[in-house]
Amino acid sequence: MFKGILITKGDAGYLAQLQSIDDSVLPEGDVQVQVAWSTLNYKDGLAITGKSPVVRRFPMVPGIDFAGTVTHSSHAAWKVGDKVVLNGWGVGETHCGGLAQVARVKGDWLVPLPAAFTERQAMAIGTAGYTAMLCVLALERHGIKPADGEILVTGANGGVGSVAIALLAKLGYTVVASTGRLAESDYLKTLGAAQVMDRAELSAPGKAIGKERWAGVIDTVGSHTLANACATTKYNGAVAACGLAGGMDFPATVAPFILRGVTLYGIDSVMAPLAVRLQAWERLARDLDVSKLEAMTREIRLDQAIDVAAELLQGQVRGRVVVDVAGS
Ligand code: NAP
Repeated sequence: MFKGILITKGDAGYLAQLQSIDDSVLPEGDVQVQVAWSTLNYKDGLAITGKSPVVRRFPMVPGIDFAGTVTHSSHAAWKVGDKVVLNGWGVGETHCGGLAQVARVKGDWLVPLPAAFTERQAMAIGTAGYTAMLCVLALERHGIKPADGEILVTGANGGVGSVAIALLAKLGYTVVASTGRLAESDYLKTLGAAQVMDRAELSAPGKAIGKERWAGVIDTVGSHTLANACATTKYNGAVAACGLAGGMDFPATVAPFILRGVTLYGIDSVMAPLAVRLQAWERLARDLDVSKLEAMTREIRLDQAIDVAAELLQGQVRGRVVVDVAGS
């Protein structure tokens, strides 16, 4: 038996509870991990509250991320005692995840804990931070340089947004942070935002094409915000779209793409191949200021995770949340 959050769906409805979980709940897998730290991402909020059908098997341990130590392995790459990190691959959705003290997964899904980070720091980064890095890499690959102009980051106070701001600022870019929480402007400027704008300027239906402003965009919001961001991106600029915090729809026209050569990059962290993950973690080790990471991180225990998941979906959480699984 081990402690963790278990989601069930039955006569009592959709229920997430902290409880003692029997080992028989664990799925097949060639590596077993003693989980030390996990985290809460937007998707974990959806899974724990049941607000969107991200959990597709029951019972399910939520948690799309974990960091911990290998305790059993029949996989050639991993031995007992190795420190590992897992992000995505359907863990916490179709395969039991990280918000419990034991996880059993495919060894192919794991990456080594980067030497630059503790397990807690790796989870402070989590899928949100690793996705922010994937977005930055997409803009870099497009050839966008700091001298090209402002980079817009939407959903700025969220996990992806906060890490994206810190990364872009360290790399010398001028970041404009779009937020619904202007009261957090000082926090966003501490992370490295040069300017803060009200998200209301982007969230209403806009023109098919507008005044050119952004050299690049990292969008976590979707819907009209993404459409307006594309419509105001400069000639040959690029938009990295990774989120839907404002909506899954994309009410846009093709005008920015055919009149301004704007490129829209889709960013997926869940099924990204190993080489891409390793590159992202290597760049996080190089380019993320750990003092900024600490400043954006709140620590909770497993018994707080269910309540904090609801707060996260209400847009009340700033930055990142780490869950002390081993100490819970
Ligand atoms: P998060 O910490 O909850 O942050 C989301 C932020 O979006 C909020 O803090 C808020 O920022 C803003 N927001 C919330 N509701 C909004 C609304 N109705 N309209 C406009 N803005 C709103 O979530 P996260 O973990 O950073 O994830 C952000 C998004 O990226 C989510 O949609 C998530 O599913 C997605 N994501 C995708 C991938 C991928 O692989 N593609 C990976 C990770 C995350 P302000 O208060 O500053 O406005």
